[in-house]
Amino acid sequence: MIEVLSVASEAYPLIKTGGLADVTGALPGALSPLGVSMRTLLPGYPVVTDKLNGGGRTVAEFDDLFDGPAKLVAARINGLEILLIDAPHLYARPGNPYLGPDGLDWPDNWRRFAALGWVASQLGHGLLDDYQPQIIQAHDWQAGLLPAYMKYGPATDVKTVMTVHNIAFKGFFGSEIFPQLRLPPAAFAVGGVEFYGGISYLKSGMECADFVTTVSPNYAEEIRTPAFGMGLEGLLNGRAETVTGILNGIDIDTWDSAIDPELKQTYSANTLHLRQVNKRALAERFQLDGVDGPLFCVISRFTGQKGMDLLAQVVDGVVGLGARFCLLGSGEPHLEAGFAAAAARHPGKVGLVVGYDEGLSHLMQGGADAILVPSRFEPCGLTQLYGLRYGCIPVVSRVGGLADTIIDANPAALDAGVATGIQFDADSAHALYEAARRAVKLYGDEKVWRKMQRRGMKSDVSWEHSADRYAALYGQLLGLARDNDNAAD
Ligand code: ADP
Repeated sequence: MIEVLSVASEAYPLIKTGGLADVTGALPGALSPLGVSMRTLLPGYPVVTDKLNGGGRTVAEFDDLFDGPAKLVAARINGLEILLIDAPHLYARPGNPYLGPDGLDWPDNWRRFAALGWVASQLGHGLLDDYQPQIIQAHDWQAGLLPAYMKYGPATDVKTVMTVHNIAFKGFFGSEIFPQLRLPPAAFAVGGVEFYGGISYLKSGMECADFVTTVSPNYAEEIRTPAFGMGLEGLLNGRAETVTGILNGIDIDTWDSAIDPELKQTYSANTLHLRQVNKRALAERFQLDGVDGPLFCVISRFTGQKGMDLLAQVVDGVVGLGARFCLLGSGEPHLEAGFAAAAARHPGKVGLVVGYDEGLSHLMQGGADAILVPSRFEPCGLTQLYGLRYGCIPVVSRVGGLADTIIDANPAALDAGVATGIQFDADSAHALYEAARRAVKLYGDEKVWRKMQRRGMKSDVSWEHSADRYAALYGQLLGLARDNDNAAD
């Protein structure tokens, strides 16, 4: 059994703001049949500590964890082996894990997530008598200091992996925090945590980890270029041999249209006509005036990364093609306002729910005809995978994991019977509009549309292959693959 400690700021179903949580929540289950035991270290946000229900076992205590006392609590919650940092001075705050009530980052986020990386490093350095991880995997900037704490701490055999779910979020702070990070002066260097005169937790992890992974092969290539690397392309090119992209899978038990309790009507690839019941339920929920014609859904953060400004530009045109929209999300106020205005301009045609609603997102995948994902960059993207699995045709920009997972319905792919969706050039409202137009046209050919739906539903979006790749990587890092080769000689 390989012991891996996964260090993250979110894990579904305990705490989720985005795809990161889906991945960290699903990986342990996907890896356990492959001889990998994965525990997850999480901050003790109230929504998570509440789930302990008075259970959990205190396995370590800290008198001073970045300016306050803390406990480390071990528990099994929702099938996940969790180590929870119970540190009220850092995490006992309601709501979003990163933002205060004013919608801005908590000013002490640097401290809150330094503590996460630091506690992980203590576990790596033998904090517990009965638990020793062999590999520690840090997810995104919040866990990004962990590899530096390992690199600048006592010598150890423990290997570190930095997994980048989004290179845009760098965890960048001013250099004045450095004296409080519990790192030696040598760490404030290009080969350590320093980044353009300040400190980037993500860069630090990418610099100091033994291996860097990201969440799709295409994104792993893209971030080696200035357009997508956002200042880290040089670092990545310098260590290209130890960078790889492993595609995210999805939890196919949670996302199973045959048993999904969030659907008004369950269905399978053979009973696609039943999706109409869900479409009607959506029409009611989003106050649409009917279910004729194609219904596009969007389930997204409303941000520029997700291309939501492009979508706002084309809504009128696409409604003009006879389509309807149901939009779920929240984010930048001007985009929320833009979509509210579009809904007001097109009553019965454009419906908007501002907020985060996991259950509704299932109903949308199970009832809408197509899901639009017009991202400018997309490390992997999960909503297009849910779309494939639910027969909700993905209409996606050709970037990152979107390009890796969807086969465009061009004439050759249609002839060959392999198309699963529609792709278009990113960062272009015109290309998005044209893609929507193609979707509307294809929708008009029920036979072709149904075939695409069925094909998508058959595509393998599970964790199986990717979990194999993670397990192989862990084995390689521990020298196990080499030993096996030797044994075979
Ligand atoms: P990102 O992590 O960049 O936001 P992903 O596509 O990787 O994008 O993952 C987004 C996840 O969050 C998916 O599981 C998606 O269904 C979910 N999601 C996004 N916005 C909402 C929302 N408003 N309500 C419910 N689920 C949402």
